[in-house]
Amino acid sequence: MFITVEELQGHSVKFDESFTQEHIDYLMEGLKQVGPLTVRGSARLVVEEIEIRGRVVASMEVICARCLEPVEHAVDLNFDLVYRPITSITRGDEFQVPRGEEEIGFYREGRLLLEDVVKEQVLLSLPMKSICRTDCRGFCPACGTNLNREACRCGGPIDPRCGKLKL
Ligand SMILES: [Zn+2]
Ligand SMILES: [Zn+2]
Repeated sequence: MFITVEELQGHSVKFDESFTQEHIDYLMEGLKQVGPLTVRGSARLVVEEIEIRGRVVASMEVICARCLEPVEHAVDLNFDLVYRPITSITRGDEFQVPRGEEEIGFYREGRLLLEDVVKEQVLLSLPMKSICRTDCRGFCPACGTNLNREACRCGGPIDPRCGKLKL
């Protein structure tokens, strides 16, 4: 769904969308959306900036950093963002965004794709590393046995993850 400057002229625009798994490409290996993602909120134009706020609810599946099994990660977040036309930054200025304005995004060709806004918010909400449970024992790097399910029988390499995980 595009939010265009044209339709924001003079009035704000409300949205209430549901995106299926196929709709958004997260471009991140191991990351999957489970079921539909819903986003609702509103957008308005302030001079040439698009102010957009709303709420995203989704269920994501990530990969446990230790055992590589899928882990479900619930997303329920509010956002309040400002997008500027990309033409407002001149070449070479890109890395000199003033302090406190790191949260500002940019739109181009007079429109903003809601899916892109949502995708960015979801990616930002994910932890750097997800683990399926705090006492996940991971897998044996030598034989690949998932140590949550069974004990490693390969004798094991000298690896703290194999068998004796200290937290
Ligand atoms: Zn795990
Ligand atoms: Zn092993």
